[in-house]
Amino acid sequence: HRNEDKPKAIDLSHHLSNVSKARKTSPLKGLQRYAGKEGVVQMAGGFPSPAYFPFSELSAEGLIPDSFPLSPTSSSTSAFSWLLKFFQGSKISEKTTHLTIPKYPAGPNDLNLAASLQYGMAKGAPQLQKILDELVYKVYKPAYKDSVILVHAGNTDAWFKCVQTFCNPGDGVLVSEWTYPSAVATMVPYNIKPVAVPMDGLGMSSVGLRKILEKWDESTSGMPRPRVMYIVPIGQNPTGATMGIDRKQEIYDICVEFDVLIVEDDPYYFLQEAPYVPRSERSATVRFNNDEAYLSSLVPSFLRYSIDYQGRVIRLDSFSKTIAPGCRLGWFTCNSTFAERFERQGETTTQAPCGFGQSIVTALLLNWGYDGYIRWLRALTSQYQLRRDFILDCLGDEFHLKLDYETSGVWSGCDIYRAYDKAPADVAFNEKLGAIKPMFSLVPPTSGMYIWLQLHLENHPSFGSVGDGETLEMQLWIDLAEAGVLFAPGWMFSAKEENTDAPGEGHFRISFSNADFEVMKKAITTFGVVIRKFFEKQ
Ligand code: PMP
Ligand code: PLP
Repeated sequence: HRNEDKPKAIDLSHHLSNVSKARKTSPLKGLQRYAGKEGVVQMAGGFPSPAYFPFSELSAEGLIPDSFPLSPTSSSTSAFSWLLKFFQGSKISEKTTHLTIPKYPAGPNDLNLAASLQYGMAKGAPQLQKILDELVYKVYKPAYKDSVILVHAGNTDAWFKCVQTFCNPGDGVLVSEWTYPSAVATMVPYNIKPVAVPMDGLGMSSVGLRKILEKWDESTSGMPRPRVMYIVPIGQNPTGATMGIDRKQEIYDICVEFDVLIVEDDPYYFLQEAPYVPRSERSATVRFNNDEAYLSSLVPSFLRYSIDYQGRVIRLDSFSKTIAPGCRLGWFTCNSTFAERFERQGETTTQAPCGFGQSIVTALLLNWGYDGYIRWLRALTSQYQLRRDFILDCLGDEFHLKLDYETSGVWSGCDIYRAYDKAPADVAFNEKLGAIKPMFSLVPPTSGMYIWLQLHLENHPSFGSVGDGETLEMQLWIDLAEAGVLFAPGWMFSAKEENTDAPGEGHFRISFSNADFEVMKKAITTFGVVIRKFFEKQ
């Protein structure tokens, strides 16, 4: 273990929920130490014989880590046509590497189906454990001795396990005012309520957080002061905001002061794109000289030694956005007390993630090696950057995007693009500016896969007579859906009980992760037609 010289996590067991405390230590656990002994005949567990597993071998063609270019040339002159060619080309030239997992191992440590498809891998296949161990200690660098890595069935499963393990009915959980709706849906049916913390351009506001915790009054809020925080610090869903190290430190310090656990749901961690540069100013340079430079450019996790010296961070990693969502595979990194409770919970729910998925992902990562996986992540990031640039370029072609400085709301203090209808060619834009009002604003994300559009519904002719922004937001959403384009309507992401929007505000979350380039281009053109028509409506 890499942390032998460090102190153990502090005792945080008072945060365990009543349900979690009531879980009995597995009776089998005490007997486990006999199971590993040489020559022991295993007749205790209900293990089917591997001979009866109707698979003798699993094989797959995995992609090679170098499948995507590290620095696609998207300079101003080559523009879209190059991108389209690039994307079509990358689809047909898949280079693969052969993966085979036999039922029975050739060597004692080889990945094999007899073990992968058997009961008893609650922490994960030992081969996968080893890979995750290297990744966690090299990239995240947790600060204390007893940090534990434990597999789960994706961050959805992991967050559910956190809610059950730390929250009692009637508790509240600190979340950003705009947040991932499934995270809220996981807790609300158990009478565990989101407590919305204001956001700014870096995500959750530390000032806002402190205010909520300092002023907490159980008698007026009807719930004890929250002890748990749910946070998506990188490529935040839905705003796309990315939190830097300073803000993380501020939030961590407040959580120490008020004894709050931090659940860091971080599926977009490795997808940290560079800041957006408009097409006309973009140069085709390689972003990093090597993989090491890519890794050191990543914002440190909340786990990082300088921040989480106490072990109050429960980090949730997922392979959903780096390998594939259907794998249903990810891992916790947390202190040993919590890991033991998660394991007990796993025994009565998922047991281990599916053995097929786990073994094939493990085989791929063994084939790639640590360096190969980092290369894959680096290339993947450049793919997402290409997509992010492409969609913003499309928006720039469709609208007049004017750089401005935001003075209020979520993006207060950020450079922001305001989208106006294209000015007539014969009239200087600035002359017209008084007469033309922006239709929406956006801040280009620097990580993840979402763009958060702030709609300026106050500029809609029937604003005020129709009522609130939410109604207009849905009217525009329906117009767009009927034209064949689905964005996510903003109201879905509100963590507040009442409508979060100031009058005239509305939002759309656009995901640029999936559509082909030509389809994405068409969608933005359609959006342009629909929103223009919408803003003309009386
Ligand atoms: N129910 C019973 C009665 C069992 O005997 C077992 C496994 N021994 C299970 C459930 C666990 O089933 P599964 O592996 O499908 O989770
Ligand atoms: N958490 C966040 C913030 C997400 O955006 C998503 C997917 O969209 C998930 C969790 C779901 O992750 P998983 O597939 O690992 O359950």
